[in-house]
Amino acid sequence: MLFLNSVNSPSSGEVRPNQHSQPPAVGGSSSANRNRPRRLAELTVPLPQRTVSLLAVPLPLPPASNAARSTCSNGNANSKQVNLSEIDRVNRIGSGAGGTVYKVIHRPSSRLYALKVIYGNHEETVRRQIRREIEILRDVNHPNVVKCHEMYDRNGEIQVLLEFMDVGSLEGTHISHESNLSDLARQILNGLNYLHRRHIVHRDIKPSNLLINSKRKVKIADFGVSRILDQTMHPCNSSVGTVAYMSPERINTDLNQGQYDGYAGDIWSLGVSILEFYLGRFPFAVGRQGDWASLMCAICMSSQPPEAPPTASYEFRHFISCCLQKDPTRRLTAAQLLQHPFIIRGQNQVA
Ligand code: ATP
Ligand code: MG
Repeated sequence: MLFLNSVNSPSSGEVRPNQHSQPPAVGGSSSANRNRPRRLAELTVPLPQRTVSLLAVPLPLPPASNAARSTCSNGNANSKQVNLSEIDRVNRIGSGAGGTVYKVIHRPSSRLYALKVIYGNHEETVRRQIRREIEILRDVNHPNVVKCHEMYDRNGEIQVLLEFMDVGSLEGTHISHESNLSDLARQILNGLNYLHRRHIVHRDIKPSNLLINSKRKVKIADFGVSRILDQTMHPCNSSVGTVAYMSPERINTDLNQGQYDGYAGDIWSLGVSILEFYLGRFPFAVGRQGDWASLMCAICMSSQPPEAPPTASYEFRHFISCCLQKDPTRRLTAAQLLQHPFIIRGQNQVA
């Protein structure tokens, strides 16, 4: 049974091998599902151009002269440059594998920001690379992506000034209402689709990197940062974050002929996060904070990826199965998922 048909028109990019040749299964081999009539037979979804890349952010770097500045602003005409000396720390929000985040206030404007202080004093060559990365990230401007305003280099310590999200992260959130979950998934997918269209792969989609504010806007945080940390941390500490949300082929490079498609990897991580919100627990049969070996066994060795329970709607179960395919070529893209009936249905309910 197919929910979504793909088309391969000159403007819609290439259809990936195997894409939709076998639709993702929902609810295992349930005969109820097998016998269900095909819905939305006329629905077609254009495919964006996708390139498999080993690089997380396969973007051309700006010239070194640009990158040599010690701060960078976001290039937004409405934003004035914020000097580090004008910022006071209000409190520590939390710490992750690569840094500590503070709530800060810009005294002249009384505006609140989040300041991420990246651990360690980095060598000049590494700092130059970080500055170049952030030069790229500062141009990112989308309502569902946390804005990166400035980057400071204080004697080798890198600090990044970010849009402040006053409600915080979605870690530990339980969302059992499918319409709320659909709205949340749509917002994340809008941000992810924007990043992917700009050839930016996130690589660390997980609940703690999905932030919400009191206007109920959900935004993706930390894109690109995990790549920076991956490259700059000592090999002993280079297991940035957790592998819990990573796709099987990223954890185990023996899978998928060693090919890692970062775009499809982001979709897997999104699927795990959305399913976790629905269930109110990490979807694999192992603790999220478990050791690397148990997580790797649960994620890579299990024959079937986790599924939404039979009590969920057919649309939601199908949506999850479109993200959590072990074969990355069978996962839908962010653009395609935005057209999925689970997302469209939620939008209609809100409207
Ligand atoms: P990891 O290092 O594995 O990514 P993490 O996401 O928990 O883990 P940080 O990114 O350092 O670690 O974030 C620390 C805390 O600060 C998290 O709770 C995160 O949700 C919060 N946080 C990060 N950025 C912001 C922001 N812009 N506004 C509000 N809170 C934020
Ligand atoms: Mg984070």
